[in-house]
Amino acid sequence: MVRLSALGSGSKGNALVLSCGDGSIIVDVGFSRKETCCRLRTLGLNAEEIKAALLTHEHDDHSKGCRVFCDEFDIPLCTSSLTANFLRKKGKLPVRVLEFEPGGEFQIGGFGVEPFAVQHDAVNPVGFVIRREGLKIGIATDLGDINMLAMQRLSDCDALVLESNYDAQMLRDSDRQLYLKRRILGRHGHLDNMAACAALDYLLTPRTQLLLLAHLSSECNSIEIVRPLFERRLAELGRTDIEFGIIEQDHPLGTFELEPELPALKAGC
Ligand SMILES: [Zn+2]
Ligand SMILES: [Zn+2]
Repeated sequence: MVRLSALGSGSKGNALVLSCGDGSIIVDVGFSRKETCCRLRTLGLNAEEIKAALLTHEHDDHSKGCRVFCDEFDIPLCTSSLTANFLRKKGKLPVRVLEFEPGGEFQIGGFGVEPFAVQHDAVNPVGFVIRREGLKIGIATDLGDINMLAMQRLSDCDALVLESNYDAQMLRDSDRQLYLKRRILGRHGHLDNMAACAALDYLLTPRTQLLLLAHLSSECNSIEIVRPLFERRLAELGRTDIEFGIIEQDHPLGTFELEPELPALKAGC
């Protein structure tokens, strides 16, 4: 069994942990080391069991605690080479670094990791497909657009963590400066609720058992809008069996258990 623990998500910090047996990996360390450890404790997780950190991109809400956390627990930070170069110049890389190229794959802490390029205004942003025990977990928290590549990589996951950043009308009505609105709305910005919701038609398959929404904007989105929107769509798709959650900024959401598909079910018995 693989466990997915959501520590928190939003423009002030992102982190989630995948655990299997006594080994875990953390995806993004966007909170301070202290805050990360506090949230891990809240979920009953032991930081000592984390074998590696994966980084989606260099933005502070994903990388803030990476250096200190990795150095304290003597684990590698797995990041794209271009992102590593950027962080190196800023003095933000930990001692141990494992560089990857988007489109490749590697093993770390017993997990198979397949980073893929996403459209976002960072040096070399990626989403991840992570595999363990036949389970496929897809993670994409910052992307302006679900292009064909992202669609292909994120479809047919057992668990999907997907950005649903803003409500387009709330963003247009907000006091944000025009350049910022353009940045968020653009193909290299963030994903809006409707685009994320529409993508479910293609992304969800019979094997999907968990859907978590991430990176909701604090000013231009709300759970009161997002929850009914997605619950309605899941009902329309006949998929109310899927466990559905929204990862918030201020507190951990919890831990979800992912069961590998039984061989008998795979064979259609
Ligand atoms: Zn972010
Ligand atoms: Zn970002």
